[in-house]
Amino acid sequence: MRFSKQREAVYEVLRSTDTHPDVAWIYNQTRKIIPNISLGTVYRNLNELAAAGRIKRVSCECGSERFDAQIQPHAHFVCIKCGAITDVDAGKCNVSCRLDNVFYSEVTLYGICDECRAPIEQNKKEIQQ
Ligand SMILES: [Zn+2]
Ligand SMILES: [Zn+2]
Repeated sequence: MRFSKQREAVYEVLRSTDTHPDVAWIYNQTRKIIPNISLGTVYRNLNELAAAGRIKRVSCECGSERFDAQIQPHAHFVCIKCGAITDVDAGKCNVSCRLDNVFYSEVTLYGICDECRAPIEQNKKEIQQ
């Protein structure tokens, strides 16, 4: 892969966060480094980085395509309310597979994140009172 200043900028932007952003977020951040970069260029560079195995696409049913610079195998927690994606320590939730012929695994857990759960818990308390 030939060195490209634009591609490295896109990569650095994605690497700076663990929020698994979508293309629009990455585009806005990359524009702070390269003001005249286009959305199409950002998207093309993300595809190239993914094809080269330097970043990963996050498979979630959240409607938008999300990206991850963390390429080590890890599980994701997806909030079905706000769409937030957080990394899950695989050791914590015991999702592991030790079959020799498995090269690749993707674990996605769906639920409601702490931030979205707070108002729900608050409501429950009010109802109980
Ligand atoms: Zn949430
Ligand atoms: Zn991740």
